Amino acid sequence: MPELLEVELYRRQAEAVVGRTIAEVDAPDGWFVKGGEPGELVAALAGRTVAGVRRRGKLLVLDLDDGARLGLRFGMTGRLLVDGAASIERLEYSSSRDVAVWDRFALRFTDGSDLRVRDPRRLGGVVLDPDEERLGADALSLTPAELDAALGSSTAPLKARLMDQARIAGIGNLLADEMLWRAGLDPARPAGGLSPDDRAALHAAIGEVLADLGERGGSHTGDVRQAAALDGLCPRDGTPLIRRTVGGRTTVSCPAHQR
Ligand SMILES: [Zn+2]
Repeated sequence: MPELLEVELYRRQAEAVVGRTIAEVDAPDGWFVKGGEPGELVAALAGRTVAGVRRRGKLLVLDLDDGARLGLRFGMTGRLLVDGAASIERLEYSSSRDVAVWDRFALRFTDGSDLRVRDPRRLGGVVLDPDEERLGADALSLTPAELDAALGSSTAPLKARLMDQARIAGIGNLLADEMLWRAGLDPARPAGGLSPDDRAALHAAIGEVLADLGERGGSHTGDVRQAAALDGLCPRDGTPLIRRTVGGRTTVSCPAHQR
């Protein structure tokens, strides 16, 4: 968290600042500015007008009127606030308290409005001209051919490959568990070993999960994670779910129907 669905909400919210001109940049936390000095970032942004807002995977990009780009990353706990309001009041794993010291970065516009990144654990960051080419195809528009290319003939765990942002951008831990649960695939099996039917099921599950969980309100609303927190039984077949580490992340899956 935040994964693609949350950052997509941030993107929609950030549309409000398109056309606004940056009067002042507040970058009090040098750690939060990546790939350069805070002073350089402030100088590059001041006086510029926001020309557009885009999302690629979990990266939010503000396009500026001089061609420069500002990339915002939200880590595990980052939230976007536009004019003081958040599109997501509370993230899983994040505090619901609002503490101004958690504002790691802010743009103040000439009309008095602002855009802020609030991040208790400061695992996110801002970067001038992010290298977007390092990100794979966006999960929301992923084609079967792009999924095939991302899986390749890799012996890496399937879940690790799904979460590799250089191959598919936007899928995090919670979305990956739900996608694999719905597709009936073991998260730990080698990514390159999927049959054409397996791949078709996974491609369908990726689209369904993004649509369903987007409607439900976020990455944490998947069936398998909610069941794990409730009674620990697979909602499909009643088998006790298992919890283990796959690809370095805590993973919930069903040993019966996920093969
Ligand atoms: Zn099951």
